[in-house]
Amino acid sequence: MKKRDFIKTLSVSAAGVTIFGSLTRCSLFSGEKQLPDNWVWITAGKQTDDEWEDIFRNMQKADIKGLHMRADEEGHRHIIPIARKYGIEVHAWIITLNRYWDEEAKKHPEWFTISGKGESCFDVNPYVDYYQWVCPSKEEVYQHVEREVMSLLGIEGVKGVHLDYIRYSDVILPVGLWEKYNLIQDREYPEFDFCYCDTCREKFLDESGIDIRTLEDPAASVEWREYRWNSVTRFVNRLAGKVHADKPGKMLTAAIFPYPEISRMICRQDWAKWDLDAFFPMIYHSFYNEDIEWIGSSVAKGVADLAGKAPLYSGLFVPALQPDKIREAAEISLSNGAAGVCYFEYHSLNEEHRKVLNMMAKG
Ligand SMILES: [Zn+2]
Repeated sequence: MKKRDFIKTLSVSAAGVTIFGSLTRCSLFSGEKQLPDNWVWITAGKQTDDEWEDIFRNMQKADIKGLHMRADEEGHRHIIPIARKYGIEVHAWIITLNRYWDEEAKKHPEWFTISGKGESCFDVNPYVDYYQWVCPSKEEVYQHVEREVMSLLGIEGVKGVHLDYIRYSDVILPVGLWEKYNLIQDREYPEFDFCYCDTCREKFLDESGIDIRTLEDPAASVEWREYRWNSVTRFVNRLAGKVHADKPGKMLTAAIFPYPEISRMICRQDWAKWDLDAFFPMIYHSFYNEDIEWIGSSVAKGVADLAGKAPLYSGLFVPALQPDKIREAAEISLSNGAAGVCYFEYHSLNEEHRKVLNMMAKG
């Protein structure tokens, strides 16, 4: 399961008018910050400088100029000057609300979300041992993430921050993953339903007059569902306001679930309401037992819900796309209004995939 979780204008200007075959399009986003058409996600590991040169040369040939890179600050400082030689724009990719990797957050068990069973995500991890989610309603959590984002944006050459795992732990897993985890999730079950922490209980009580701990079936409460959608939306929009005010020209983007309706249902992401510079829905068809047509319809839903707010880049799951299908997936995304595509992830693109992308780049 890809645990890395990801729009700006239109009047359904179709975010980019695609001329089939050449993948050439002009941006119709007025006043937007210019963004590359094609992207990849990549995690910096132990690559040597020569290997980075190879990676960026390959990207340049395939006309992939946008990079969401998972690296520490030192890694960004070292790699960005190499990327720049190839005209590649780097955005710092962060794991936002799942802090399994964060020793500082783990010093604060009270930051973590609480399930409907009353168990803390700090102690009991849903699905996988690296699911340790913090609560978006807590001020300390917001401040912690804001510090990380602003620090990354202070690095020379970082164009933006890309928020991943900007959501709740899946209350319902994508249907294609039920078998893998040996689960049937025909409704919301309390052990996968978060956040019943004291902060959320009090804030929700203030806003709605309802004490969530007294409800027999919290999943049936529309107000409670919306509270949690809004808790993530408030978090993102506060952060976007900070980035845009303090770092003009820098961008905030996110990796999100395939389209708003399914995102709200699965992980409480109401992302069409977010004030981001671009949206990267992970339209990973195989996770949902779907086909390439579904990629197109998901893009169209996202673009329609965004109503011109920001560009949408279609996130494609390369391991589920044979080389002869990758062009089809990109073209159906563009013809449904995506401004471009983003491949998950660089190392999944084999030589055959890259040959197809190089041909697409030539038109
Ligand atoms: Zn909470």
